[in-house]
Amino acid sequence: MSGDDARRKPSLLRSFMRITAVEPVRLRERGVDAENPEHLDLLLVRVHTDEGIVGVGEVDSMPSVIESIIDAPALHSVGSGLRALLVGQDASDIDGLWQAMYRGSLWYGRRGAALHAISAVDVALWDIRGQATGRPVYELLGGLRTDGIRAYASLTMPDTVTEVVEAVERSREAGFGAVKLGWGPLGRDPDLDVELVAAARKAAGGEADLMLDMGKSWTDARDAVGWVRRLEQYQPYWIEEPLMPDDYAGYEYLAARVDVPLAAGEEESTIWDFERVLGRSGIDIVQPDVARVGGLTQAVQVMALARERGRRVVPHVWSTGISRVATAHLLAATHGAELLEYWPVRSVLDQTVVRDPLELEDGFVRVPPTPGLGIVLDEERLAHVRVR
Ligand code: MG
Repeated sequence: MSGDDARRKPSLLRSFMRITAVEPVRLRERGVDAENPEHLDLLLVRVHTDEGIVGVGEVDSMPSVIESIIDAPALHSVGSGLRALLVGQDASDIDGLWQAMYRGSLWYGRRGAALHAISAVDVALWDIRGQATGRPVYELLGGLRTDGIRAYASLTMPDTVTEVVEAVERSREAGFGAVKLGWGPLGRDPDLDVELVAAARKAAGGEADLMLDMGKSWTDARDAVGWVRRLEQYQPYWIEEPLMPDDYAGYEYLAARVDVPLAAGEEESTIWDFERVLGRSGIDIVQPDVARVGGLTQAVQVMALARERGRRVVPHVWSTGISRVATAHLLAATHGAELLEYWPVRSVLDQTVVRDPLELEDGFVRVPPTPGLGIVLDEERLAHVRVR
C-alpha cells in the first residue's frame, strides 16, 4: 500500500495529539500579605497540544511544591518531573499517561503532593479529550445520569451564635437545602459546640440538612464519643473528619459508638488509599477530592468502589470553579450522586479566573453541556493576577 493509500484508509486508532507544553499558572491576589503568600496562592496547570487545544486543571495543594514537581528534570525511570514525562506524548492516552506519571514520580511520590500535581494534569487531559471530541466531560465519564445535582453550602463555622444564625439563614435564602459548617471554633469546647450547633439547627429548620466538619480536631477517639453523642441531638447529616486521616482504628472505635454517619477522605489519594478507608475505618461517607485523589481517572474508580461496598460518596471540593466544575461532571455521570460541595463566597481569584461559574438554581446546579469541562478562563484578568 502506498503512503497515500495508507493516509486515506480509515483508522480505528485515535489520532495522536502531541503534548507540547505543561504550564503551571501561579496566581496571587493583589495586595495580600507577602509574608504568607501560600495561603492565597492558587496554581492552575495548563496542558498544551500541537492541535492548539489547551486543557486546564487545578491543584488544591502547596503551589510552590507542585511547581517543583512539574519543573523537575528526569533523573531516572522512577524519579522524574512531570513535564519531562509528558511533553512529546499523546494527550489522548489518559490512562497511559496517568500510569507514566505515577511510575515516573514513584521515588518521591506515590501519595501527597505528587498525586496532587498528577490530579491537575489528569483533569486537564480530560478537558482536552472533551474539546477534541466535541463532548462534555460527563459524557466521556459514562453519560449524564442526573438532571441537576443538589449542592450544599460549605461554610466556616463562625465564632458566635448570632453569626451562625446569619450564615445559615443567608444560605437558606440563597436556595441551599443543605449547609455544612466546619473548622473555626469546632472541637475546642463541647459546650460552645453544642450552643453553636443548636443555633444552626434552629436557623436551618427541621427540613434542611446540616453537616459538621470537625477539621480533625480530636486526637483521641475516646474523647470524641461523648462529644459527638451530644451533637447528635441536632440531627447532623454527617460529622466530617473528627480525627486525623490515618487514625483508622480511631474511626472504627468512634463509628461503633455513635449513630451519626462519619465522613472523611479529602486527604486520601488513589484507589489504594480508598481500599483501606473502605475496608477498615467504619467511615460511611467517603470524600475523594478530584484535585488530590489523582484526578478524574482515580475519582471514577473510587466512586465505583464505594458503590460496590455499599457506601456513600460526596466528593470534597474547595478552591476555584475549575475543580468545582470538574467535580460536577463527575457527579453528573454517577448513579445516585448525592451532593456537590459549594462554596457560596467566591474568592477574588475564583471570580477573576472563571468567567462562567456553575450557577445555583433552587439549590441545584446543572453541568455545562459544552465540550470538555466547559470553562472559559478570562485571559485578560488572568494576566492581572498571574505571578508566573
Ligand atoms: Mg473537610
